[in-house]
Amino acid sequence: MNNKCNLIRDILPLYVEDMVSTDTREFVSEHLEHCEACRAEFEHMRKPADIIPDADIVPLKRIKKELFIKRLQTVFLTAILACAIVTVLFGILTSPKFFPYSDDLFNVNSGADGSITIAFDNKVTGYSCMKEFNDETEIYQINAWTTTWDIYSSNRGKQNMVIPSARETNIQIFYAQNDGSEDVLIYGTNDNAYQDTVTLPRQIFLPYFMLAFLVLVILAVLRFLLKNKQATIVWIDRAILFPISYMAAHLCTKGINFMSYSSQRDFCVIILVAMLFYFAMLTAKSLYKAKIGTSQKKDRN
Ligand SMILES: [Zn+2]
Repeated sequence: MNNKCNLIRDILPLYVEDMVSTDTREFVSEHLEHCEACRAEFEHMRKPADIIPDADIVPLKRIKKELFIKRLQTVFLTAILACAIVTVLFGILTSPKFFPYSDDLFNVNSGADGSITIAFDNKVTGYSCMKEFNDETEIYQINAWTTTWDIYSSNRGKQNMVIPSARETNIQIFYAQNDGSEDVLIYGTNDNAYQDTVTLPRQIFLPYFMLAFLVLVILAVLRFLLKNKQATIVWIDRAILFPISYMAAHLCTKGINFMSYSSQRDFCVIILVAMLFYFAMLTAKSLYKAKIGTSQKKDRN
């Protein structure tokens, strides 16, 4: 038995199952014609299949299984794409539109117990509040918004915000307009601590996007350099979908806008959409590969 025979024996199980490429099949067939030992081994391997009365059942079962997996993948791809579209729409519809300061936006009332109630106008459907300490002063920064979703949906309750407080603490409440204008003092006296402050949007999305782009470029270069290492390519192909998904998710949810006054929320939406895109692309790729495989098989037959 020479080296070639060893090689043939390794491939034989796949050959028996018809899971080899055309070239390999020709190579093995040719060898089997000339080598008696390997042919005996091949006949031995084929035996169990011969016991089954109808030998056609085996490939038929396999085709049925392949078809089933393909159908399952198609259903999965459709479902996940639908989820992605719904999430993108939901993200856009529920993205906060901040109100600029106006007199009718809210009323500030202090209660007998020292607590402060901010009663927002009906058009306000959401608010957030950030608390900071500056020496003896409690500084609150609030903003108010609505969303496209809230404008068209009926459940628009009145929002009230209560800041509990002991009488002796010094409190300042600012309204952040989130449009590049100055924050407005709406409660307390200004002791210059917070004067002329403008709440700025977070710019984290530009570095994230650039990072994703950089990773994409690096992986693309690696893929080109290592194009002969099949095992590495498989992993690169999977990894390269991550930056692509992230960038696509950003563009779908935020367009070419990289600023945000609600960065945590926006980031969550982007990551969720990116994950859906990733699995959709993975499934689409495997479906595409299966399609190519089937057409190649057809060509062979
Ligand atoms: Zn041989």
